Amino acid sequence: MKVVYHADQKQHYPKQFLVNGCFQPNPEMPERLDRLLEGALAAGCTPETPPRQGMQPIEAVHSPAYLEFLERAHERWAHIAGASDAVTPNIHPDRRDVGYPASVVAQAGYHMSDASAPIGDRTWHSSCWSAWTAAHAAGLVLDGEPGAYALCRPPGHHAFSDMAGGFCYLNNTAIGAQVLRGSHDRVAILDVDLHHGNGTQSIFYARNDVLTVSIHADPRRFYPFFWGYANEQGQGEGLGYNLNLPLPRGSGDAEFTAALEVGLERIREFSPGALVIALGLDAFEGDPFGGLRVSTGGFRAIAARISAGLRLPALIVQEGGYLCDELGENLNQFLQGFQHG
Ligand SMILES: [Zn+2]
Repeated sequence: MKVVYHADQKQHYPKQFLVNGCFQPNPEMPERLDRLLEGALAAGCTPETPPRQGMQPIEAVHSPAYLEFLERAHERWAHIAGASDAVTPNIHPDRRDVGYPASVVAQAGYHMSDASAPIGDRTWHSSCWSAWTAAHAAGLVLDGEPGAYALCRPPGHHAFSDMAGGFCYLNNTAIGAQVLRGSHDRVAILDVDLHHGNGTQSIFYARNDVLTVSIHADPRRFYPFFWGYANEQGQGEGLGYNLNLPLPRGSGDAEFTAALEVGLERIREFSPGALVIALGLDAFEGDPFGGLRVSTGGFRAIAARISAGLRLPALIVQEGGYLCDELGENLNQFLQGFQHG
């Protein structure tokens, strides 16, 4: 299997984010890419650098106004006297609909669902390479590879078509799925990150050609709080094509695997031509977020079940998973489990 990544994805380096009312060190650090790359190489993956691809795959998922905001926000923000290093919203337009604002401060609130996706001077650049990483890896799957691993950073599954959030700017998983739709009538997304994939859900919520399934910690007491409930099943033509499987905080391998079987059954019923796995490794028992208790061996078992239970060409897109001693090994085990059972 190839591991696709670009070194410029490390240039995005948000120093802090707002959590519980305080600015704290941002755990979505460039070093994640090094640790994950070590894990992929240990699993026998061959590295490949994606080519620059233009905006088409990104524009297929994100709105023009949002992309213009992301590209220019930092430069505009820097003109505000005394402003922070990184664009961070301090006002949100929820429950108001008075048109699109002109101020970059107001646009930051309009285009960001929370204060955990600060935009620095290299955020746009690294985010584009992260998106192109997913698009290129999806192309490898279309060209006949049984699987490809897109080492995407920053991650993407909390990014909506016009909104950043939760360390995410461009939705790499959705971009990869849309590329796969070029040759497959139906594509399934299975999101195994600790957190609900709210951006991905939103992008495909009214569509029946892309099934979205997410297993995650119950949002009643966990980020992203306002999305991820079992009663969110899609709308319009998409009704019945979104499946949320929230797990109680602290659930381990057994509970996760039981939910996985429900998700796999729904995917088999949908009969897609290809699969995207939104691979967060933050469901790990030793992850700093501490929401679920999946073990290192559990990741291997989960991957083996996905592979054996679906037998589909698969694009694996890196989502969350934060610095801890086992981060690389968890990826190694997942990729080996996927390839060898
Ligand atoms: Zn996560």
